[in-house]
Amino acid sequence: SKTTSSNFIRNIVIEDLEAKRHDQIITRFPPEPNGYLHIGHAKSIVLNFELAAEFKGKTNLRFDDTNPLKEDQEFIDSIIEDVKWLGYGWDGLYYASDYFEEMYNRAIVLIKKGKAYVDDLTAEEIREYRGTLTGPGKESPYRNRSVEENLDLFERMRKGEFKDGEKVLRAKIDMSSPNLNMRDPVLYRIAHASHHQTGDKWCIYPMYDMAHPLEDAIEGITHSICTMEFEDHRPLYNWIVEECEMESQPRQIEFARLNLTNTVMSKRKLKQLVDNEFVDGWDDPRIPTISGLRRRGYTPDSIRAFCREIGVARNQSTVDTQMLEHFIREDLKLKAPRTMTVIDPLKVVITNYPEGEVEWLDAEINPENEEMGMRQIPFSREIYIERDDFMEVPPKGYRRLFPGNEVRLKHAYFVKCEEVIKNEQGEVVEIHCTYDPETKSGSGFTGRKVRGTIHWVEATQAIPAEFRLYEPLILDDVDSSEEEEEATFLDRVNPDSLQAMQGFVEPNMKDSEKQDKFQFFRHGYFNVDPKDTTEDKLVFNRIVSLRSSYKV
Ligand code: ATP
Ligand code: MG
Ligand code: MG
Repeated sequence: SKTTSSNFIRNIVIEDLEAKRHDQIITRFPPEPNGYLHIGHAKSIVLNFELAAEFKGKTNLRFDDTNPLKEDQEFIDSIIEDVKWLGYGWDGLYYASDYFEEMYNRAIVLIKKGKAYVDDLTAEEIREYRGTLTGPGKESPYRNRSVEENLDLFERMRKGEFKDGEKVLRAKIDMSSPNLNMRDPVLYRIAHASHHQTGDKWCIYPMYDMAHPLEDAIEGITHSICTMEFEDHRPLYNWIVEECEMESQPRQIEFARLNLTNTVMSKRKLKQLVDNEFVDGWDDPRIPTISGLRRRGYTPDSIRAFCREIGVARNQSTVDTQMLEHFIREDLKLKAPRTMTVIDPLKVVITNYPEGEVEWLDAEINPENEEMGMRQIPFSREIYIERDDFMEVPPKGYRRLFPGNEVRLKHAYFVKCEEVIKNEQGEVVEIHCTYDPETKSGSGFTGRKVRGTIHWVEATQAIPAEFRLYEPLILDDVDSSEEEEEATFLDRVNPDSLQAMQGFVEPNMKDSEKQDKFQFFRHGYFNVDPKDTTEDKLVFNRIVSLRSSYKV
């Protein structure tokens, strides 16, 4: 079974099934289509789908599309793609908007029972009248309208006789409740806006607190899992289910949202980054959207493994992004071919190697996974090495190339630096080396040892490529409060989060396809960028570097 780690929600489900409260559990993943999914949503997706699967239940994908002003078909399409890509198939695919007629009828049930009324107060007045935790709220002067008048006004709201904001439908509960959510919450509002699913059929829309419990009850959801900020809404959730006389009684259970270090997660913040062009769209590899992670090179397996590992709890915490990185390294370690690439090239001429000659050397594709076999790489008189694998004046302990020093070229020969060529500005532009044919890799040469091994790419056949290296997009600010953080996060966007380098890959990589993943010797794991890679140009995104001190 996949959901092996125990969590308190799983325990509730086990208890409910043992007590025969349900024959079968039904969960749902209910995104609002007002943005792209992110890794926090993945936590909810993994939890809902795997919990149901473990107990042979069902999971619905439901678009919570009750706010036409913020929603769009583009987001629906992306959400469907992302849930599928993560590896989950839903039982039912529903739209909250499918239930608008039913919800309207349930509102009528409330009105008829004297449990809801049409209010003419403005949004601001309603907020004011609600009061604060230190004292009771104030009742609206419209609170005691007759059932007949409320029925008439609500019908006319639906017909479009009133302007946005002119009237709302409110629950009639308790203006002195210690829970502010119970002080006559707004259930319906007027919005003359075209809806992506229902067009212009409706001009009144249910609020989340009205819509969500009804959606769950209509679908027969048994366990309605949401994040902690809805804990205080739970009494209202239960009130709606009961007073609307829903047959099925879903149970709301809250858990802590996922937060990650150096990352903003909410769709609202991500949208600001996208709209203000701090990033290259919703699939920018630096943001934690599912599409961004996919483009960065994360695999569904790695994201699912991460979500299972972080577990499900009620206390708020922030997970180290290094833990996510750990899981992609684990996933790719045995799968990704390992090749040599030079990200910041420096030309090396091997002066005693015959001009015009090319030899092909054998190299294992993945030394940790022999089954992946061997590849051939060319070697000749001219190669590229990494600029920082050479130093003219090396510090003590430097083992790589410097004048007079000998190193091993990975999979090839020992070379010794004989001469440094500079341009007029005094910059090193080329290194001249000699090689020792006796020292070929695999020849069993034991005559002498060198202390450093460096990687390289043969120059005449090397394929130019772009390498995108990333740093965290958001600089963490541990000291400020959540509100401060909210206001200032755009100031903390790291201006150096993307570095694009022009270098070379081995010729055997010319047929790489978009989304192919590699481990580049010493540089880390890379993904072929699906957006900017063309027939003529390979672009690689660094998923993650090789080293990490992180241990699960
Ligand atoms: P955001 O604040 O990012 O917009 P949201 O909760 O408004 O998130 P929804 O589309 O309503 O986004 O979310 C769908 C489901 O995903 C909800 O059940 C929600 O609780 C869950 N979810 C959203 N963000 C997280 C998160 N960071 N961690 C865990 N679950 C989350
Ligand atoms: Mg929401
Ligand atoms: Mg939101």
